[in-house]
Amino acid sequence: MKLASITYRRQQRVGIILGSGSCLLLDPEIHGIPSRIEAYLSSEQAQVALAELEANGFEGAVEVGRDKVHLNPPLKDINKVICIGKNYADHAREMGGEPPEIPVVFSMFPSAIIGSGDNIVLPAISNQVDYEAELVVVIGKSGRHIPRERAMDHVFGYCCGNDISARDWQKGKPGGQWLLGKTFDTFAPLGPFLVTKDEVKDPHQLNVCCRLNGEVVQSSNTSSLIFQIDFLISHLSQFMTLAPGDLIFTGTPPGVGAGRKPPVFLKSGDTVEVEIESVGVLTNPIVAEV
Ligand code: MG
Repeated sequence: MKLASITYRRQQRVGIILGSGSCLLLDPEIHGIPSRIEAYLSSEQAQVALAELEANGFEGAVEVGRDKVHLNPPLKDINKVICIGKNYADHAREMGGEPPEIPVVFSMFPSAIIGSGDNIVLPAISNQVDYEAELVVVIGKSGRHIPRERAMDHVFGYCCGNDISARDWQKGKPGGQWLLGKTFDTFAPLGPFLVTKDEVKDPHQLNVCCRLNGEVVQSSNTSSLIFQIDFLISHLSQFMTLAPGDLIFTGTPPGVGAGRKPPVFLKSGDTVEVEIESVGVLTNPIVAEV
């Protein structure tokens, strides 16, 4: 299923995106599905209700055109946004480093999350804002010290993500740590919806593409991930409890603007798209801060 966080006639709803391009609106009163995906993920009862509804062909759900609804980020009110750096060897090298021996881990705040179609705002205090197309893993089941062989049981699904990065703040200031350069408001586009894991045959065989103003700037496949998803979940869970809704940005392939000669940074009027096979297309316009 493709679960979307939808606003329709000023009401928040969980919706199911259909192949036809329309979507089904789920009503908390009628279907027992909360109005937010965050609440759905932490309610076993709601998950059973949705499975039953799906088995019944979503009887009674209202179908509306995609043009009639606003897609919000699928998740925002969540516990953690965990990011993996340098997880494709050629990207590590284009940034002047070597592939790491253990995962490079950093974080963003959930306040940075925006949905597909929302504006990425270029901060006035940066002039080196860059794109990073990434497969994002959504955790569905809480866990600590998760063995690698059971790690995929903790995955709920996948989204496209864009780890927008102010390189001038990421690198060198302050103190060389990455947080501020990565967590400006609007720097974590996520979406356009949340694809449940049953729809993704093999998350380590997905084409990942980024287009800047229609031109392909990143093109790779998750088969090139240095640290695979099951390893990352097991590794991260040695440090912290992973909770439903937590996001893991799995790292970006080569082709980022900072690695180009000359470098290419985002400017007002640009549009950046992240497309991941079986997961969707995440589109965001770029605007200047006013
Ligand atoms: Mg990244």
